[in-house]
Amino acid sequence: MTSQGGLGTTSVQVALRIKPLTAEDIEKLPSRFQRQVITTSYTPGQVIVENEKRPIFQYDYVFGPEASQEDVYNKSVTNLLGKFLEAYGQTSSGKTYTMGTSDEASVPNKSQGIVPRTMSALFEKIKSEQYKTSKFTIKVSFIEIHNEDLIDLLGQGEEEERPPVTIREDSKGNIYWTGLQEVKVNSVEDVIKQVGFTDMNAKSSRSHAIFSVTMIHKKFVPYGPMGGPPATPPPDSTNLDLRSPSPKVSSNYGGYDEGEWETITSKFHFVDLAGSERLKRTSASGDRAKEGISINSGLLALGNVISALGDPNKARHMTHIPYRDSKLTRLLQDSLGGNAQTLMIACVSPAEYNIHETISTLNNGTISP
Ligand code: ADP
Ligand code: MG
Repeated sequence: MTSQGGLGTTSVQVALRIKPLTAEDIEKLPSRFQRQVITTSYTPGQVIVENEKRPIFQYDYVFGPEASQEDVYNKSVTNLLGKFLEAYGQTSSGKTYTMGTSDEASVPNKSQGIVPRTMSALFEKIKSEQYKTSKFTIKVSFIEIHNEDLIDLLGQGEEEERPPVTIREDSKGNIYWTGLQEVKVNSVEDVIKQVGFTDMNAKSSRSHAIFSVTMIHKKFVPYGPMGGPPATPPPDSTNLDLRSPSPKVSSNYGGYDEGEWETITSKFHFVDLAGSERLKRTSASGDRAKEGISINSGLLALGNVISALGDPNKARHMTHIPYRDSKLTRLLQDSLGGNAQTLMIACVSPAEYNIHETISTLNNGTISP
């Protein structure tokens, strides 16, 4: 699924990140398997795997074990202007670390992952001069998919007493998630508070987590010197306004008295996918096996949707895109298709011990097994 692959027509990009061996890994892995068998090449976007018949793999971006959180963000995320990002790979390969979907307030700035970095950049941007005649509302939600059940991670009170989260589609193909808490945020600290409070428990490597941001941008469009009907305040004038000091609400927006308010809604999704390891390694049975099957159905469906979108024949007839095969793809339906941009970050371990899963992740830039 690299840009050289069969998906040339979609805007799906793949980044590969090789994590360093952490102290914990060194303690856990049998020492004879700690040897690092995957290296970055001098050719941009390439990695080389030792002792493989086909040792060279090519991606849009490659980040070696030395790459910092800032490198990953600066090189692969910023120019995408965050639409849809997903992290894929076996458990413990660095998906959550890279995404920053469980960063707490105690995490130093330099170690923060993509979510807090993107949110900081977003709050900075909307405060800039360019948006001085705009008002913004930013809301976040956080959902976990476990065994095809949807769990609202920001939900208040007992899980059993909350309204069920459901997915609806309107006649225009917009997807609505109902029964879900959406929390207004005014700063990156607010975001971290929401994420940090969340107890993604031991299940987390076996469930998908989707952190979503909705941005409602109310923009004043002046009629210009030729005049027009008088400007009215935006429909919801209680919305937060992040410009400081507190906004001067005058009849004079951007030097013009007259114009109208336009509303633009954008969505961003950050997906921390379930671990991609095959069932046999954990010799799963019973409930675990059931979990494995539903994890795989999500990952498999996502792979199928992405490759169908890359097939010009299928993409033209949107009905052939198999969004309904899993909750994951159904939830993300209106963000995966159309003109959305997707970045998949494939995460791998450098150690020989994990070579089997690593090769599978490398090959599965396409996700499907
Ligand atoms: P996953 O979400 O894929 O299961 P994690 O993100 O939880 O994996 O990573 C496993 C462990 O490795 C965590 O303790 C994490 O902090 C650490 N880790 C992952 N990637 C890096 C990295 N690039 N640099 C330093 N530590 C990392
Ligand atoms: Mg994780």
